[in-house]
Amino acid sequence: MPELAEPAAAVEQFDCPTCEVPAGSTCRTRGGEVAPKYHTPRFMLVPQLRAELEVKTPADRGPGRAWARGPAISGSLSPGVRGRIRLGTCR
Ligand SMILES: [Zn+2]
Repeated sequence: MPELAEPAAAVEQFDCPTCEVPAGSTCRTRGGEVAPKYHTPRFMLVPQLRAELEVKTPADRGPGRAWARGPAISGSLSPGVRGRIRLGTCR
């Protein structure tokens, strides 16, 4: 099975059934902080990650810091595109 380049991005295509954060956001602890890893029922929604025991929250998403809703994902899913800076105009 091909390994995902960005497991976290794949997980975040889904809302979390456990902590109920919307797609595009990291998982949240009961204390309102960014969870250090994604909840199992959430990453089980990604077929390629079903064999994993845990999927860690990337360090740049600030695990342990106060949780804030991430940018909403709209319409078509394009993991990895979100958050990237658009470079100039290419036309
Ligand atoms: Zn969660």
